[in-house]
Amino acid sequence: MIDIEKIRTDFPILGERVYGKDLVYLDNGATTQKPKVVIDRMEEVFTRYNSNIHRGVHHLSDIASREYEQAREIVRGFINAGSTDEIIFNSGTTAGINNVACSFGERFVGRGDEIVISALEHHANIVPWQMLCERKGATLRVIPMSDDGELNIDHYKAILGKSTRLVAITHASNALGVVPPVKEIIAEARRLGIPVLVDGAQGVQHGVVDVRDLDCDFYVFSGHKVYGPTGIGVLYGKRELLDDMPPWQGGGDMVKSVTFEKTEYNDLPFKFEAGTTNYAGAIGLAAALEYIGAVGLEEIAAAEADLLSYATERLSAIKGVTIYGNSSCKISVISFLIDGVHQYDAGMVLDKMGVAVRTGTHCAQPVMERLGIDGTIRASFCFYNTRHEVDRLAEGIEKVIEMFR
Ligand code: PLP
Repeated sequence: MIDIEKIRTDFPILGERVYGKDLVYLDNGATTQKPKVVIDRMEEVFTRYNSNIHRGVHHLSDIASREYEQAREIVRGFINAGSTDEIIFNSGTTAGINNVACSFGERFVGRGDEIVISALEHHANIVPWQMLCERKGATLRVIPMSDDGELNIDHYKAILGKSTRLVAITHASNALGVVPPVKEIIAEARRLGIPVLVDGAQGVQHGVVDVRDLDCDFYVFSGHKVYGPTGIGVLYGKRELLDDMPPWQGGGDMVKSVTFEKTEYNDLPFKFEAGTTNYAGAIGLAAALEYIGAVGLEEIAAAEADLLSYATERLSAIKGVTIYGNSSCKISVISFLIDGVHQYDAGMVLDKMGVAVRTGTHCAQPVMERLGIDGTIRASFCFYNTRHEVDRLAEGIEKVIEMFR
């Protein structure tokens, strides 16, 4: 069981007050807050050994390089990848997907080929594939969803075929919280030898992720959504695929030798890390992963499941509230609307009560279009939230209803 009092003191920002009220931060789907250990680790980088990595013979560069490679090992262990060669640091989920779309797409996708995504995707897992299809004359196929946000797996099986080059699927929907049957989706593609990319932006912070058990070919996530710094992310890829993919970007560090006639590319993972990477961010991310590892991923999942069920119960009992994405398999996200109140107005009133939620399309316009709405109010909980904060949200919604009646 999580010691919530202790956990909350680990996150300095949770003690902030907003408009004179205790902050209730329910926008964890957009970005998570940072524990003190992450803030301290970042400060340590810049105050004790900041130096560009892999390039210097001097003491500071040596420490920074070692810490960076140690961070890679911590990420490897966290997602149970087979080798650090399969862990590529980048700026986040968006960069990871674009990397695969550009380099895998460059080598393996051609005219008449197909890429399969789902109706639940964030724009980051739609647009790079659309751009690839446009460049290559390929087609984007979409697994449809039900009114509750559940994917039609029979349809998925029917569209997989000889022309499918890749399946790109979210580990969990940021807009609705729905968790698709990712393992089944991967197994089906695997049967036909089709690689699968999992967008783990909303996956890795909510429970144990084991890329070898999932048997996905690529897994991408962002540091800032898993209690780490901004501007750092991870692309995991199976070595045999990464080896066959051309580099995405050219520059320093991704080369072994350069002449005007020819460049020899570096080995994995450096082949995909052109230029100075966010080494401080990588070291901060490692601190975040160590932190949640110590709290316990299973404990985190249990605490969040409790918050989700309590919040669902509380919000469902309020007349005029409609929850979207009523699937039995969800991360701790509740997307909802209030009858007769625009989501922006509700979000602004809640903000004045110290309750931070997100409103709008959540970078998932096709989800909203499918549901016939122009956006939702989204409360996204994580393990440092409490039932008392859920009550503050519910009371806030009741106040909104009263104000707009
Ligand atoms: N995919 C999903 C499911 C997301 O929720 C997000 C961010 O909200 C992204 C991708 C993009 O992440 P980032 O902006 O950190 O690259």
